[in-house]
Amino acid sequence: MSLQSSTPAPSTEEVRWDLTFDIHLGATWSRFMAGLIDRVIYGTTCSACGRTSVPPQAFCESCFEPVDRWVELATEGVVEAFTVAQLGFTGGPTPPYVIAGIRLDGADTLLMHWLAGIDLSDDAAIADLVGRRVRAVWAQERTGRILDIAHFTPVD
Ligand SMILES: [Zn+2]
Repeated sequence: MSLQSSTPAPSTEEVRWDLTFDIHLGATWSRFMAGLIDRVIYGTTCSACGRTSVPPQAFCESCFEPVDRWVELATEGVVEAFTVAQLGFTGGPTPPYVIAGIRLDGADTLLMHWLAGIDLSDDAAIADLVGRRVRAVWAQERTGRILDIAHFTPVD
């Protein structure tokens, strides 16, 4: 009996995981999520260096000092980075879709979120996304989760 086969040995095996689990938000992110219910985007400003972060941070990512100064940020900002995702995931939008790093007015950090209202068949529209002003579009029903902001869309 021969150990050789005309079929190559498999080197990978597809595995799918569908997990549901709860993430402990902590005091800082809980307050952020509570704000979203009321259509308010909270950030935190570091008293030591002045950096305003959104999502809010309990400790400054720049100077590592504790942060406890809360600020209400604008619901508009500018796209600073983006990618067009070609693959979907459970609970996500139908691909292709845009994930953008958005600098809300008054913030020093980027909020990552979905960007809708872009014609993805228009290469020029995609090429002009960086620097484009966008605004939050709120979900009709808000329950204190990041998808209380349904997505962002260009401000025309
Ligand atoms: Zn700081």
